[in-house]
Amino acid sequence: MQLVRRLKFFAGRLARIVLVWGSIGGVFALTVTMLRAFAPDAPVPRALPLDLERDVAWVAGTMPAEVQEFYRGPAGDGRWRLNGMRQVWIRFGEIAMHLQVWRRNEDRSFDRSPAGTVDVWRVRRGFPFRCLEGSSWSAVPTAGRTAARPLDVSLLRIPRASDTDAVLPTQVIWWGLLGNAAVYGGFLLLLTRLPVAAERWWRRHNHRCAECGHPLLGAARCSECGASAVQQDAVTMRQ
Ligand SMILES: [Zn+2]
Repeated sequence: MQLVRRLKFFAGRLARIVLVWGSIGGVFALTVTMLRAFAPDAPVPRALPLDLERDVAWVAGTMPAEVQEFYRGPAGDGRWRLNGMRQVWIRFGEIAMHLQVWRRNEDRSFDRSPAGTVDVWRVRRGFPFRCLEGSSWSAVPTAGRTAARPLDVSLLRIPRASDTDAVLPTQVIWWGLLGNAAVYGGFLLLLTRLPVAAERWWRRHNHRCAECGHPLLGAARCSECGASAVQQDAVTMRQ
């Protein structure tokens, strides 16, 4: 029974630590990821081949209705394909993906005029895991018409003095946020516990009371605060 009670005690304690420090880590991860929007932009471009299954599924699932309208041919259907490469910009663990979507005709050929292409900018941020996502879509006509304003999905634009807007993705990727909450929460927990643990270790190593630092001089009980020198491990666990 004693063991069961102890196990229950530690399970409750563990649950509380995970909940509290997980929440702190989650808020910290979101704040750091959002602050990234205000950092000066100097991305590192890298070209990656398309991940056909994932990228096509994502484009099909996310493309706004107004952009789908852009592909609508005379017969009323809208078809598209992705261009062969995607570009990925990487900085601070950020991934911003740039894809091109092309309009396809009835006879399965791909149209270059007058419909043109659609540029997709997929922004996923977060470190070490991506936890926020958003995208920007712009229909780019090949000739004749002028391009419409980019259409943002889960993307907040913040105008700034330089020529480019700061963008803030707003859609939460829950698995990424959970992972980041665990990483940041664990790190912050360690950061707060380490100095205390180090100080106690140093006091005990130097034959002082672990509670108040008073020299023990071989006594079983601290003459300053009354803490037992023998039962100090139990005291540490209960705190
Ligand atoms: Zn003491």
